[in-house]
Amino acid sequence: MVTKDTMSSLEVRNWLLDQPEGETLLRCYQCGRCTSACPVADIEPSFNPRLFLQKILLSDELIAEEQLVWNCLTCEQCEVRCPEHVKIPHILILAKVRGLMKGNVPAAALDRARNILSIGRSLEVSSPMLKTREKMGLPDLGTPPMDQIVAMLVDIGIVGKIEKAESIYGGTENE
Ligand code: SF4
Ligand code: SF4
Repeated sequence: MVTKDTMSSLEVRNWLLDQPEGETLLRCYQCGRCTSACPVADIEPSFNPRLFLQKILLSDELIAEEQLVWNCLTCEQCEVRCPEHVKIPHILILAKVRGLMKGNVPAAALDRARNILSIGRSLEVSSPMLKTREKMGLPDLGTPPMDQIVAMLVDIGIVGKIEKAESIYGGTENE
């Protein structure tokens, strides 16, 4: 049974530092290169990886309640620019894990998870997408191997986690 996270921000910080590579956070000296390299920050100024790390480091806010971290693309642009090799995308994934336990999963994230289970992709492929691919000379997308995808997701326990998340959040709105 998944229960809602009742950890304080200091406990979340300590939990995160205890995870593999979580301790790299301690090397952050807030230079901001990660934010300047981030494509999401470029279009959404309120998305600021440097600030997320500062919040965790100082335990001044509960990062598990921060919905913006879910916009991270895990593209790793930040990590390759970081002079201290802080594992930023990984740390943001850990923040999402805490968010999941806290009950702060954006409805769109659950929708994407459900899509992968039902159609093998996080988004439905639309006609404009197909036309763009055709114009660009990209190959046919084919049909996702659903049997293999579902078997793999069941194997790693994701299906059960989505079901548990839906039982907490009702699968629609955040609390
Ligand atoms: S680039 Fe690295 S050291 Fe600089 S703020 Fe980002 S995580 Fe911290
Ligand atoms: S991994 Fe996330 S935080 Fe880092 S550059 Fe990409 S989108 Fe930004």
